[in-house]
Parts: sequence; structure tokens; C-alpha cells
Amino acid sequence: MDPFADTLQRLREAFDSGCTRPAEFRAAQLKGLSRFLQENKQLLQEALAQDLHKATQLDSAFIRKEPFGLVLVIAPWNYPLNLSLEPLVGALAAGNCVVLKPSEVSKSTEKVLAEVLPRYLDQSCFAVVLGGPQETGQLLEHKFDYIFFTGSPRVGKIVMAAAAKHLTPVTLELGGKNPCYVDDNCDPQTVANRVAFFRYFNSGQTCVAPDYILCSPEMQARLLPALQSAITRFYGKDPQSSPDLGRIISEKNFQRLRGLLSCGHVAIGGQTDESDRYIAPTVLVGVQETEPVMQEEIFGPILPIMNVRSLDEAIEFIRRREKPLALYAFSNSSQVVKRVLAQTSSGGFCGNDGFMHMTVASLPFGGVGASGMGSYHGKFSFDTFSHHRACLLRRPGLEKVYALRYPPHTPRNLRV
Ligand code: NAD
Repeated sequence: MDPFADTLQRLREAFDSGCTRPAEFRAAQLKGLSRFLQENKQLLQEALAQDLHKATQLDSAFIRKEPFGLVLVIAPWNYPLNLSLEPLVGALAAGNCVVLKPSEVSKSTEKVLAEVLPRYLDQSCFAVVLGGPQETGQLLEHKFDYIFFTGSPRVGKIVMAAAAKHLTPVTLELGGKNPCYVDDNCDPQTVANRVAFFRYFNSGQTCVAPDYILCSPEMQARLLPALQSAITRFYGKDPQSSPDLGRIISEKNFQRLRGLLSCGHVAIGGQTDESDRYIAPTVLVGVQETEPVMQEEIFGPILPIMNVRSLDEAIEFIRRREKPLALYAFSNSSQVVKRVLAQTSSGGFCGNDGFMHMTVASLPFGGVGASGMGSYHGKFSFDTFSHHRACLLRRPGLEKVYALRYPPHTPRNLRV
């Protein structure tokens, strides 16, 4: 018999009901806490005296942002330059020394980063190290003061486990499946343009790309010709010859993606060319939730459409899966967009477009739950790479005032 199961289930159900979200509820809980302290002062003082023989004192304070020390930045291959340099900016701005480990998969960028970048930085404080899983595993045995990892959830767990051995804090920028809800009340061509642009950008190899569409069968019927039209306008009748469509990074990923084409039915695209690592911009329909294309992050130019009968069903579908890095909702009704936002959780959210929220420097970028922890971009990068040191400075004088806090705390005439 698990002594905690009932309590944990009760609290999780309460959280899922949304009851903790309204400001009034939160204010009421804090007022309750305050009343608890006021109404039980005597009881609490006695308890603290019995347990610890001490009381606490509040004071004013300030935060000093200090560099952690030696930071490790591990980058993936899909935007190999940006995802190496963006964390580096924050780490250097905060005053850290940095070891950068670019992805071994994007070989050419790795070479430039290793051979050219160090010439532009003080090499006594910065190094690029090379290697794949084995070398990175070896590197992770060393103690770092902070680790910033961008990559898959699978490797994120390896990195976090290695960091835990040294109690090293981490930021994990991971991936997952980003849902894209399309309401019946919207213009299909506008939605198709925006979803196709963000899905097929970099041949779908983007962590925040819309991974799948959730919509009604009626909206699916309107979206398909609109998606076909957007794809033809963007990449021409023969997308393989378009200079604007990327290629799949590796043979391994090409084979994985080609395998996903057997899920559901191909409604648009589906052509492949192994010699060119080319996969046409593709839309799949009639897919089942249990099929691989709905189980793993696609990370390629394939867009499955799942049918839902209502907004409630879409929200329920999103909520029963891991929390995504990004979530998209398209509707002419701001109420619908706001409901999706309010009743789900994700690293970031964008209403009526693709990953524009990621491009705004005043917004933090990061995941939640299985899509990661911590965030960066702009000022948030500086904060991520800084230890927020809580400080208090006191003048050496005024000892008579401060002497009030010293024991004994019982008035002399009451002492036994
Ligand atoms: P990956 O996890 O395979 O590799 C990332 C880094 O980890 C690479 O530098 C690699 O050398 C290293 N690595 C790989 N295996 C390792 C191991 N066993 N031990 C230690 N280190 C290891 O990821 P990837 O294939 O390069 O990138 C794709 C993934 O990254 C996708 O899941 C994508 O969503 C995610 N991603 C996330 C973001 C974000 O900002 N959240 C951005 C880009 C990509």
C-alpha cells in the first residue's frame, strides 16, 4: 500500500481542474498563510523554541549576479551556429569561462567553430572541444559549474545524470512534439501558409516547428488544398529543385523519416530520393495516435493531421501527452486561443502563427517538463549564466540596536 498515492492524486486532480489559477484563489491562499502565522504566533514560537531554540530575523537585501565559473555548452546540429553562439553570448556576458562542444554531426560548422572562433576570443578563458557521444560522456565526468545543453530529451537525461554527480546546475533545451490546434473558425489558406512555412523551414529540422495538426475532419478537408497551394507557391511544382528547401542532415535520419511515411496515408508529397537525402514536403492524414509518427518527435518535413471533434478533445489530447516546447493555436476567436493557452502547459506559445515567440528577445525561450528546464535569450541568457547571490551588508555600528536579538529572550524577572 503506497501511503502517498491518494494525497498526490488528489492534489494533481485539483491542479488539473484549474482551481489554483485564478488570482483570487492565490490571494486567498496567501491570506490564509498570513492568518496562520498571526493566529498561531504563540504556538509557533513554542514549537520553534522546542525544536531549534532560535528565532529568525528579516532584513533588507540585494542580489549580486556573479558568473558561475567554468561553463560547458553542448550544442546540436540543426542550427549548429546559432545554438552554439547564442548560449555562448550569455555565458561570456556573465563573465564565465566556457567550454563549447559543438555537434559532431554538422561537421563543417564544427570545424569552423573549432579552428576559427577561438582566434576571436581570449583562449585562456575559452575552448572548443570535439567529439560525439563517447567523448562527450568522458567530458561530462569532469566537474563544471554550469552545463547548458541543447539536444534531445534522451541525451538530456544523460547530461542531467552526469551533472547530478557533481551537483552541477543545468539548463536543458530539449525537443518533443509541438501540437498545432486549428479551429473551425479560421481562414484555411492563412493557416496553411503559416503552418507550412514553419513546418518545412530547414526541412522540418527545427525544435519549435509545428509537429502535428489537430483539427476537425471538416477543417482537414479545407486545409489540404490550402496546404498543397502553399507548398507549390513556396517550393514550386518540383520541390526537389527548389533552392529554398533543405535536405535531411544524415542518412540515419533520412531512413528514420522515410519509415514514418508509412503511417496513415500520404495526402500531399511523400516522394523521397535517398541519393540526395530529399524528402518532399509531406502531409499525412488518417494517422493513429499509437503510430510512430505520433509517438516520436518528427524533426523532418512531414506533417500529420489528427482529427478531433471539439476544442475540448484537442485540449484533452494535448494535456495527456508530455509538455511540449511550443504550442500553436489558430482561430479567429481570441476566446478559443486564450482557452488553449489557459488550459495547457508548454515551454512557449504562439497564437495564429508559428515560432515567432522565439524571435522576440524580450521573451525567455525554454521548455517545461519533458521539453526542458531553464530558459535563455536576451537578458534571460545573462541571468541563466549568473549565480544570483543573495547579499546583506550591515554597518559595523549600532550594536545597541542589534543587541536586542541576542538571547536570553525571556525577561530576567520571568526566568526560573
Ligand atoms: P542529440 O541529443 O543527439 O545531440 C546533442 C548533443 O549531445 C551533441 O553535441 C552530441 O554530440 C551530444 N550527444 C549525443 N549523444 C550523446 C551521449 N550519449 N552522451 C553525451 N552527449 C551526447 O540531439 P541532436 O540530434 O543534435 O538535435 C536534435 C534534438 O535537439 C531534437 O530533439 C531537437 O528538438 C532538439 N533541439 C532543441 C532545441 C531547443 O532549443 N530546445 C534546439 C535545437 C534542437
